[in-house]
Amino acid sequence: MPTRPGLKIGRILGIPIYLHASWVIIFFLITFSLAMQFTQEHPRWSATQHWTVGIVTSLLFFASVLFHELAHSVVAQYYKIQVVSITLFIFGGVARIGREPSKAIQEFNIAVAGPLASFFLYGVFYGLTRIFPYSEMLGALAAWLAFINVRLASFNLIPGFPLDGGRIFRAIVWGATKNFAKATRVAAASGKLVAYAMILTGAYGVFNGKVQLLWLAFIGWFLLNAAQESIAQVAVRETLAGLSAADVMSHEVPAVEGHITLEEYGAEVLRTGRRCHLVLHDGRLVGMMNVHTLNAVPRNEWAHNSVQSAMIPREKILWTSPDEPLLRLLERLLSADVNQMPVVSGSGDGAPQIVGMVTRDSILRVMQTRSELGSLATGR
Ligand SMILES: [Zn+2]
Repeated sequence: MPTRPGLKIGRILGIPIYLHASWVIIFFLITFSLAMQFTQEHPRWSATQHWTVGIVTSLLFFASVLFHELAHSVVAQYYKIQVVSITLFIFGGVARIGREPSKAIQEFNIAVAGPLASFFLYGVFYGLTRIFPYSEMLGALAAWLAFINVRLASFNLIPGFPLDGGRIFRAIVWGATKNFAKATRVAAASGKLVAYAMILTGAYGVFNGKVQLLWLAFIGWFLLNAAQESIAQVAVRETLAGLSAADVMSHEVPAVEGHITLEEYGAEVLRTGRRCHLVLHDGRLVGMMNVHTLNAVPRNEWAHNSVQSAMIPREKILWTSPDEPLLRLLERLLSADVNQMPVVSGSGDGAPQIVGMVTRDSILRVMQTRSELGSLATGR
């Protein structure tokens, strides 16, 4: 999955839509090959017509991919699952959702919505081909889009995770076994098989003069990575299951006064090795300071800037509570790109109290220890 979302082109249903840089390549390739195809098949059209229809068809193809992802998103939102973003990239589109569905039926419905949307578009464009003959621009455009949408739907239904078909497969196994981790492993294993089959087909193509099959090898390679990633995620889920912030937090919460200079703060960090501090002013909490924030200020400005001027202000600090599940906390730490969060208890009754600090490191340490002990216990 593309890590950097790319260029933001807008927002639909509150979901930011991004174009990844690799999208440009595929857009150019599709437009070019369509223009060539139309030039061959419709010699009576002008060159401008060939290119115009090529570009419009290509744009509508990406609109179709977007429509497919929006269909997944609408169902996810119906289940109160946040859709973080939709990104169009070289292999199509991907809708990133905030968390895994909590029930098998939800996953099934979210997954099946995409292919259904593509079949629906196939119906629409097929209908247009019945009205406008292939010799006309609209007819040629509709014929290609009908063909590509049915391909999009059927390709996505291949039962290899993380394709839609693989998610449907996982939902079925999950529903039958009531075991999410097992279902993911089974679906990811089938995903790997599908991926290897695609890579082999692509390689076969290269040695037999069918270079267009090479594309399949790239998609296979991409799917293989995604399948492996989902197996790794399940492992993390299993290790962190049943743990909450209170289990890994350190009870020691170092604090500094806001008026000290960054130079002095740096010295404090070096002396104690502690990388994160609460910032106090007259005994009141005003913010949080850490090494990361310190390093964002140029070294030569440390002497005449106070901690208070560089810190993360109180209202921007992300908090956790002692009973927040560790898995969700880790996801929040990663998505907000922060290394630690203060643990606050009793924030409900108006007198919140900082009881500890959770760091990424402490979570990773628990994961490592648990996986070592786990393998000892089961003799693997
Ligand atoms: Zn899909």
